[in-house]
Amino acid sequence: MGGMMDQPLLISNIIRFAARHYGGSEIVSRRVEGDVHRYTVRDCEARARRLANVLGAQGIAPSQRVATLAWNGYRHLELYYAVSGSGAVLHTINPRLHADQIAYIVNHAEDQLLFFDLTFLPLVEAIAPHCPTVKAFVLMSDRARMPAQTSIANLLCYEDLLDAASADYAWPEFDERAAAALCYTSGTTGNPKGALYSHRSTVLHAYASAMPNVLNVGAADVVSPIVPMFHVNAWGLPYSALLSGAKLVLPGPALDGKSLYALFEAERVTFSAGVPTVWLGLVNYVLQNGLAFSTFRRTVVGGAACPPALMDTLIDRLHVQVIHGWGMTEMSPLGTTGGLLVKHLDLPVADQRAILQKQGHAIFGVDMKIVDDDGHELPWDGHTFGHLIVKGPWIVAHYFRGEGGDVLRDGWFPTGDVATIDPDGFMQITDRSKDVIKSGGEWIGSIDIENIAMAHPAVLQAACIGVRHPKWDERPLLVVVPRPGATVTRDEMLRFFDGKVAKFWMPDDVVFVDALPMGATGKILKNRLREQFRDHRLP
Ligand code: ADP
Repeated sequence: MGGMMDQPLLISNIIRFAARHYGGSEIVSRRVEGDVHRYTVRDCEARARRLANVLGAQGIAPSQRVATLAWNGYRHLELYYAVSGSGAVLHTINPRLHADQIAYIVNHAEDQLLFFDLTFLPLVEAIAPHCPTVKAFVLMSDRARMPAQTSIANLLCYEDLLDAASADYAWPEFDERAAAALCYTSGTTGNPKGALYSHRSTVLHAYASAMPNVLNVGAADVVSPIVPMFHVNAWGLPYSALLSGAKLVLPGPALDGKSLYALFEAERVTFSAGVPTVWLGLVNYVLQNGLAFSTFRRTVVGGAACPPALMDTLIDRLHVQVIHGWGMTEMSPLGTTGGLLVKHLDLPVADQRAILQKQGHAIFGVDMKIVDDDGHELPWDGHTFGHLIVKGPWIVAHYFRGEGGDVLRDGWFPTGDVATIDPDGFMQITDRSKDVIKSGGEWIGSIDIENIAMAHPAVLQAACIGVRHPKWDERPLLVVVPRPGATVTRDEMLRFFDGKVAKFWMPDDVVFVDALPMGATGKILKNRLREQFRDHRLP
């Protein structure tokens, strides 16, 4: 055996380390109350200790679940560290889910306490009677903002609880494989299933995600996670930003382009991360108002394919480096990130861009391969596509409470994505298995079609779905949201594809809509679209 100290990898180590070695790093939050709050990592750790005492006083035992319905803010961050650090399990809930679904997962998780931001008071009032396991609901605010009247029987005030608690608390040491945090998948099909992260998986993911090839977060960065702390732990940024000593800027509920731009400028944000739809809002605001970023230099776009047109705009017009990231709830979430190799550095810009548009390279800790329907590995030639399967120490082995049974296949987790991998190891998603369009037995990748459509100047958003066809089983239908004030016809749209895709990949028809149905994690709900256009008659 080696002769090194055997210390468990615990989430409390991150905040303890940060408070001791980067104690003065700032944490700035735009609050639900509308104002901007600022304090230091040292303050955050002291309040997290108080909060850990509050949890103890409320009778929370190790491994019990404590839920949050909250935006990205300092109180949510305190909960991240206090709940997991004390040995309980932080259950972040996506408030964009339907109230019935939220009640379902609160009950499934047997949450003991539920902490929530003021925004969600009506939602909590609606679900409280259906959540018998929750002993108390805690409004994450101060006495002045407590509602005069509410139907919630056991409502507590966050700041009152903290004021009354001692900061005298020693972070406990326990097995690093203990559960730390719980996040349910959005469950577009069936009931949501919980991914139960451990301390070990979270800390390893935090280390790995800070690496230069991944998020590249350092002590000289000002990091603003736009991706919500209520879904997959904001891609681990509340952990990786603190362990790297970065300044953290938390945007609260104001995620529109104008608010984000103002915050990025005021706080000198250098790095951010989010889904494409949020970037579209910010980029449009900046361009429409003839603005520029003064410090914002790098972003990770993921959660859904980054449209090449968005990447081009960010890089060429706004001078923001784009890292394309891929992952999922079941992967903590990071799996791959884009970037160039040494041999790519002298390539023409267009060739480099084609590489950056891929979902990228596996992060050390993640192994991946593509397989056919029978599970046989397929070649890494950049053309052959197959089911993407993964393994690694921050990837689920089974869902919370064994939901869904054995999910692994020979020790690998099936992602439900369809992808190619090229000889250099760059992975590119062509589709989700359930969104693939199968025409005459051949697969058509809807992401490629959407990416081309989004490059048309009159197109704001596009989604490509399969609709039933008497001869070919399915044919692609393109659904387009035009940019405000722009017009484009069906025929112009179709001509735009000439020479860009194989003939049988050409959409058969184009329809224009005002908006696309969006899911709880900011992604287009293709199943809803398929439902909507099920009876669409192709010409
Ligand atoms: P859900 O949408 O159910 O909440 P996740 O948030 O975990 O699930 O999303 C995971 C899925 O999102 C992946 O399996 C993949 O289909 C899609 N995804 C994530 N990042 C990308 C990306 N960069 N390009 C294409 N698809 C992506």
